[in-house]
Amino acid sequence: MDSTWDRILLHPTNASVPRLAVSSCLLGNPVRYDGSDKKAETVATAMAYHCELLPVCPEVEMEMGVPRETIHIKEDHDGNRLLIGNDSSTDYTARLQPMLDQRLQEFRELGMSGFIFKARSPSCAPGSYPMPDPDGSDEPSPTYGLFAAAVRDHFPLLPMIDEESLHHHRPRRLFNLRMYAHFRLRQVFHDGPSTEALRAFHVVADPLFDAMPSCCRTDLAAALGDPRTYVHRLLGCLREANDAEAMDAAIKFLRKAPPSSLSV
Ligand code: SF4
Repeated sequence: MDSTWDRILLHPTNASVPRLAVSSCLLGNPVRYDGSDKKAETVATAMAYHCELLPVCPEVEMEMGVPRETIHIKEDHDGNRLLIGNDSSTDYTARLQPMLDQRLQEFRELGMSGFIFKARSPSCAPGSYPMPDPDGSDEPSPTYGLFAAAVRDHFPLLPMIDEESLHHHRPRRLFNLRMYAHFRLRQVFHDGPSTEALRAFHVVADPLFDAMPSCCRTDLAAALGDPRTYVHRLLGCLREANDAEAMDAAIKFLRKAPPSSLSV
């Protein structure tokens, strides 16, 4: 069995709206190092209106406690990235794997359609942690927190965003488009990778193709006999969507399309 397929589509889900894993502090939970939260209304209210949100706090689940010392990412001589305490220099990295194993399994079983993680966190940041230059001569370069990096590597086709990017039009549209595409594909393939279900989806999905580069429609039509290839191509092509009006129409199609028009 194709492992990516297994990770993103295989497990049946009873969700009636997309499920997202979200950094717990963004939902108003007091889990930060100092016992505070970082509630973001765009997530806790706006996204919660049309999605099911599952809170996750890697540092609490690594049993670092609240309050706790702050941490940073350090690269060792072999290029491994480590989570190091700012005060004690304790290496917390080994605590990450057990919670990761548990959470990745849960995400597969629950059928997540995306992830919203806290910007700039050494654990959660989806590409916005400021990694210092090793020589101190250059500007910090943005990178992933260690938890977010592992989730990205495990679910490479699923969208991931931070709460700050949700304020910007294109990243927000792109996230919603990819999230709803994944959610609908799960419904289309609820009973497994069927070419009949795929063809039924393809004939009504014009609004989706209009949001992609024009070559994608041909590439997708060529993959109609192979649901796995089709899904990979579709979710990949959507990364290139750029036209705001077309993206809005595609999101509307994905949100409103009755399941009966998307499955055989
Ligand atoms: S950023 Fe991540 S690790 Fe830090 S408090 Fe929020 S959920 Fe926990």
